[in-house]
Amino acid sequence: MKNPDDFRALKRYGQNFLIDKNILRLIISKAELKISDTVLEIGAGHGILTRALLENGVNFLHAVELDTRLENELLKIQDRYNNFKIHFDDAVKFDYENLKPFPNKIIANIPYNITTPLIWHLLEYAEHGFNYQLYMLQKEAAERLTAKPKTKARYPLGITIEIMGSAKIIHDVPPECFRPVPKVQSAITEIRLDKNLTLVKNPLWSKLLHTGFQHRRKNILNNLRGFMNIDENLLLSASIQPNARAEELTSEQWIKLFNFIADK
Ligand code: SAH
Repeated sequence: MKNPDDFRALKRYGQNFLIDKNILRLIISKAELKISDTVLEIGAGHGILTRALLENGVNFLHAVELDTRLENELLKIQDRYNNFKIHFDDAVKFDYENLKPFPNKIIANIPYNITTPLIWHLLEYAEHGFNYQLYMLQKEAAERLTAKPKTKARYPLGITIEIMGSAKIIHDVPPECFRPVPKVQSAITEIRLDKNLTLVKNPLWSKLLHTGFQHRRKNILNNLRGFMNIDENLLLSASIQPNARAEELTSEQWIKLFNFIADK
């Protein structure tokens, strides 16, 4: 393996490579890999997690990596394993639909700067698979993804995951586990998807949430007034107090409101 120290890590690609073997082992054991699992890895980097996944034994591994400077290293792994395919592309724009076989698990130390758009994009494929997802995330992002109602960290993607399944932080990871050492704390976070799998395919869903959260200090009525003819009465019929703030709403209230406007 090429020494990561010889490689000029790029901040804009969120390059902080995992070096801690205990954390690597923890990821592999939490993922409960079965020989029948098809896995997707985002941001393979120098392939530390890639190799661990393949050595553990999986049916198939797909990895997406943007930085073509890593081509030689990753193609070498591909030469060695006939159940591994590396795709050089932008994971946020990648069309996953044609992956064969289609992954049932995502296991990835992702670039932190693309966390929210990447996970939104991946959720769009939930009806095909991706039922189990294990991510290394920036701690703050992990807290937003798992935030309960009435907390400051509550935000549209976290609400969506709550409606499609569940998310939980399973282990905090300090900066020293990576090279270069990031300025932020990290956390391993698990997402399971088992219901409402086509929700995010309706663009109205994300539009509703983002409009509702547009101005955090305004109440829900002021943020949503006029959007899809939402008014005080419609909010009340969805059991929502018009003067509540978006972060206070439960996922049941959001779904009820969404069903009212989507049916119109
Ligand atoms: N998984 C590796 C690398 C983590 S660093 C490890 O654990 O060591 C994040 C990786 O994501 C880098 O290799 C970076 O080049 C890659 N990356 C950054 N932006 C990306 C994007 N839009 N699509 C795919 N990969 C990306």
